[in-house]
Amino acid sequence: MGSGNAAARQIPLHHFNVRQLLEPDACTRCGECLNWCPVYAVDKKEGITPRSKLDTLKRLLKSQNGLLARLGNKQVNSSQVDEFVRAVYECTVCGQCHYVCPVRIDTPELWEAVREALVSAGYSQPGDQAPYLEKIKQFNNPFLEPAERRRAWADQAAAAGRIKPVKNILKDPAPVLYFVGCTASYDPKVKTVAEYTAAVLQKAGVDFGILGENENCCRGKLRRMGDPAFAALGKENVDVFNTLGVKTVVTSCAGCYKTLKQDYPKLGRENFEVLHITEYLDRLLDEGRLSFERSLPLTVTYHDPCHLGRHNHIYDAPRRVLQAIPGLTLTEMERIRQNSRCCGGGGGMKLAYHDVQVAVTTARLHEAEETGATDLVTPCPTCALTLLSGTDAAGTSIRVRHELELVYLACGGENPTA
Ligand code: SF4
Ligand code: SF4
Repeated sequence: MGSGNAAARQIPLHHFNVRQLLEPDACTRCGECLNWCPVYAVDKKEGITPRSKLDTLKRLLKSQNGLLARLGNKQVNSSQVDEFVRAVYECTVCGQCHYVCPVRIDTPELWEAVREALVSAGYSQPGDQAPYLEKIKQFNNPFLEPAERRRAWADQAAAAGRIKPVKNILKDPAPVLYFVGCTASYDPKVKTVAEYTAAVLQKAGVDFGILGENENCCRGKLRRMGDPAFAALGKENVDVFNTLGVKTVVTSCAGCYKTLKQDYPKLGRENFEVLHITEYLDRLLDEGRLSFERSLPLTVTYHDPCHLGRHNHIYDAPRRVLQAIPGLTLTEMERIRQNSRCCGGGGGMKLAYHDVQVAVTTARLHEAEETGATDLVTPCPTCALTLLSGTDAAGTSIRVRHELELVYLACGGENPTA
């Protein structure tokens, strides 16, 4: 990073579309975003607010481009840009500010474009973000696991008789691809999510397969943290999916879902539909292909993942699936749907500003606890991991569960296997 009053590095404009170049001027500085930002709620620094970041971005771009730049205007020096970089990354890119902004500045898209432009200009991501992204690029997953182990969860579960063998879709075509993702494939704390998903799809008689050792990371984290390599690596995945001839791609991760559903179509046309597993299960329930045979007498509360809710407007399908489970009562938190409070895990916050992330996570866990629910349910392994990691700090005994665990149990599945 630069230092002192030296000139800031030139920010390349091609990372922004025309609308994004105009958005910093549209901010009225009304301050409504401050009332809702989950990060500002736990770290009250004006510099991290959307209005402050928009103001710095405006001055930065004007000082480097157009008439003011030609007149030698230097409104932002390199140490101010260093501060700006810090602020741009002290953000979970949850999208809450977009929803409450009276001029509807598309902040999530803008923050990601700013990150990419800053990285292209030579400013590196803070904390452990850059090495984390390097792992994804080198090993195709952030866990440094070999590709051959990517379908181990399926083979082990089938060998133990818990599920039927899962097809390798490259050898044995199927109309539905289950895109498992790195977290459910490898992370021991949540890899049962993949097994639950496979078991439920098998119970519903869905003809599906997985890519196994040929499944790449969705590479969405590259986009979230501003790595310009996302465009080429994401396009590689779109091309692989398009050759499969599948009708539907389902995923049990909200982060993978956002990448497949929103980011990939900007890189190349997809010849398949993309559904989150809860959307697909909602459809199967509606068509009568899936039913629940076991009552679960639980009072649960539901956490909307930002990538599924605010970013993709999927609020009802996961709730309908939960409410179809006999005996289960759903009780809602104060902040839900488009105003759901982020779990703290988005946008690489865990890797850059861990203490701030823990504070955001704690706030969400306390909100969940206030409902009196025994279980906090979310349909995203990354949200589940983040919330799970915060229970000690929050001093709560609420059980954090991926929604598929409850679906699996309601289908008659036996208790957690790992
Ligand atoms: S995206 Fe979320 S965390 Fe980032 S500034 Fe907006 S409200 Fe705050
Ligand atoms: S809500 Fe929108 S217009 Fe108001 S200060 Fe925030 S970004 Fe600016």
